[in-house]
Formats: sequence, C-alpha cells, structure tokens
Amino acid sequence: MLPVKEAERLIFHAVRSLNADRNAEVVNLLDATGRILASPVTSKLDFPHWDNSAMDGYAVRFADVEGCSDSQPAVLDIVKEIPAGTPPQKTLQLGQAARILTGSMMPEGADTVVMQENTRRDGDRISVLVPPERSGQFVRHRGTFYQAGTPLLEAGVRLQAADIAVLAAAQATKVCVFRKPRVAILSTGSELVSPEQPLKPGQIVDSNQYALASWLAALGMEPLRVGIIEDHPATLKYSISEALTWGDVVVSTGGVSVGDYDYIDRILEELGGDLLVRSVAVKPGKPLTVAQFPKQHTLYFGLPGNPVSALVSCWRFVKPALLKLAGLRRGWEPVFTKAKTRVELRSGGGRETYLWGRLLATEGGLEFEIPGGSFSSGNLINLMQTNGCAVLPVGTKRVEAGATVSVLWVDAPIGSVGSE
Ligand code: AMP
Ligand code: MG
Repeated sequence: MLPVKEAERLIFHAVRSLNADRNAEVVNLLDATGRILASPVTSKLDFPHWDNSAMDGYAVRFADVEGCSDSQPAVLDIVKEIPAGTPPQKTLQLGQAARILTGSMMPEGADTVVMQENTRRDGDRISVLVPPERSGQFVRHRGTFYQAGTPLLEAGVRLQAADIAVLAAAQATKVCVFRKPRVAILSTGSELVSPEQPLKPGQIVDSNQYALASWLAALGMEPLRVGIIEDHPATLKYSISEALTWGDVVVSTGGVSVGDYDYIDRILEELGGDLLVRSVAVKPGKPLTVAQFPKQHTLYFGLPGNPVSALVSCWRFVKPALLKLAGLRRGWEPVFTKAKTRVELRSGGGRETYLWGRLLATEGGLEFEIPGGSFSSGNLINLMQTNGCAVLPVGTKRVEAGATVSVLWVDAPIGSVGSE
C-alpha cells in the first residue's frame, strides 16, 4: 500500500500535458469559455487604445487651471463637446476647455480632466473651482494598461468571463485552445445493469457510468461511455484494449480488489501496461490501480467499484491528473482548505481518511459539516451534495467538533490554486 503522497507523486509525474502543436483547435470566442488556451494571445491594440477621460467633466490644459480656487476660479471657454464614440476635431488653445464624458477621447492640446463636480457652468464658459492635483489627472493614457505586441494571455490558462471580455476587447474573435482530453469510461461487474433496464434481484444499477460521465463533462473532458463489461477476462481484455486506443485516459470502475473476479491488474499487464500504483493507504479508495501505456500514450485508472470510493478517488487523484493533461499550466493540483468542523470526525487511523460532507462559507470563515446518515462507503445517498472531504491523516483517530481540519475542496473553481 502506497502512502497517498507517494501515489500522487507517481501519478502526477506520469502525466504529460497534451502537446499544443498536435492537440489544438481554433474555436469561436463564445465557445471558448472553460477551454484552455493552447497558444499565447497578443493584441495589435494598445489598452487604452487612445488617451481618454476617466471622468465626466472638462478636458483642460493644466497650466490654465493650476492654482485656481473657489475665490479665484479659472474661467475657460467651452469650445467643444466630445460625445462618446467621436474623435475630437479641435485642438485646445490657451484658455479653452472641452466638455468630455468618461471614456471619450482626449482632444489635442488638453492634458488634464477636471471633474464636473469641481466646476460651475455658465453658458459657454466654465469656472474651475478646485485645481487638479497634477497634470494628467483623470486621463487614462494610451497603452498604460497593455502595450500592443506584448503577451496578453499566456498559454495554459482556462478562459473565464473576464478573459473572454479581454479577448473580445482585443478583437480576438477566434482562439486556439487545447482539444478536450478523451476519457473512456467502463463499468466492470457482472451484477451491473444500466438505469434504463429492469432490475432483477441481486443486480446493481450502474451509477458509476453516470457519475463519471457527468463529472468528466463538467471538468471539460470528452467522455466516451464504453458501457458495462462483464467480469469475464476475454471480454474485459478486448474492451480495455479498444478503450486504450481511443482515449487519452481510460477510467474503469470495479474489479481491482482482491475478489475472485477482479481481473483488471492482470489484464493491464498482459496489454503492456506499466503498473504505477496498485493500492493506496487511503479510505475510501484503497484498491486503486494506475497504469501507463507508453505505446498508446494512455493513462489507465482502475477505480474501486464502490460508487463512493470511485468518486472520492476521482476527486483526489484523477481530477488533478486530467487537468494537467488538459494543458492547464497552473492550479491543476488538488485544492485543500482549512475549515472548522461542526461535528466530531473519526477514522481508524491506519489510512489517510476522507470524510465526505459540506463546506460552508460563513461570516466567521469556512466550516465543515456532515449532513447526517451513516458513514459507510456503501451509502451512496450520503454522498449527495458533497462539496468537500475532511482529511484525517494517518495516525489521527479523532478530531473534536470546533477544531480546524484540512478539507479537500471537491468543487473548487478550476485553476483557483496558483503555483508557479
Ligand atoms: P468491486 O470493486 O467490483 O468489488 O465493487 C465493489 C462494490 O461496488 C460492489 O458492491 C459493486 O456491486 C459495486 N459497484 C461496482 N461497480 C459499480 C457501478 N458501476 N455502479 C454502482 N455500483 C457498483
Ligand atoms: Mg466487481
């Protein structure tokens, strides 16, 4: 049994990011949300594109208004109104001002904007009552936020609304992103039936296929549901070898324990896999097989069949591996956070233990709770609405209510942990 840290090291080390030269595709900007940039973006535009006003007010020459005051206002002629979206035609001369709105282009000759609130208008004239602090006040100068030609967004970032806004402003309406990693999913077990089939006594509904398909799609992967495969060596071997050729990753559930019908490890070896991990000192999820297939460039995760164990293993080990593979440069690692547990937590102490429950954001900080029910890994019902797993390290048998624990943040925003 490998310690969790060692299993994690072996798995993450085995994962290579998709090669951007061979695995990129161009998509429309509106289809790029949640996708990972495969090549850096630069823009031909400066940001701001031109000097513009940060305020509604008047564009002036600093020299004209320097030192003015309430009692001795600077009186200027308004020679121009600059509506939004129109370039100013006039150059300001001595003693002149132009009416300007936030975002409007500065006229030639003006170097400063005075706030409307600090002026008094009288027909075609304004009196400036409060002097600007410096020349250039309330002017956003061209290129101060971003200079054309320099890197705007680097490869390996996952695009979110704010990034999409920047790309739209840069007029980058098509972007080059990594293709979604292909993940084949197999449910192994002769007792399994799909949810659409009638359930006979002794059979079990294959919930893992649904859990994985849903989870993988939400993670930005392309899942392929291979289906239910009986515990029969020849059938398993055929299905697995097919899945290996299609997928960047294959995830199967079941058949990795030490039961009489657990054939997966042997089959993976027969198919030329290097077994990196066979079992991990973790609860739930001890039987975890991870194999690398150098010929197919495929990574294989053989998860336990138990639906709770399967999902916890996904959260702890598979998710970071998939995000790294997908090209995410930073923040693919699992996200742990500290939270105050509302309930006492218990573990056998022999394995690193993950207790599934809910992280709650309270005014006093994050708290962790377990919404009732038994704590059995056979209890799938109890897993509903889980968004975090409290982690009890090896050797810790009990954590009192009110103590601070480390929690694996299951649905942390992707890329939310930054590491250089
Ligand atoms: P295994 O790891 O194959 O020994 O399976 C452990 C337990 O999980 C057994 O009770 C299985 O019936 C159950 N199980 C296995 N595969 C699935 C599945 N795809 N969906 C739901 N339960 C499963
Ligand atoms: Mg089984």
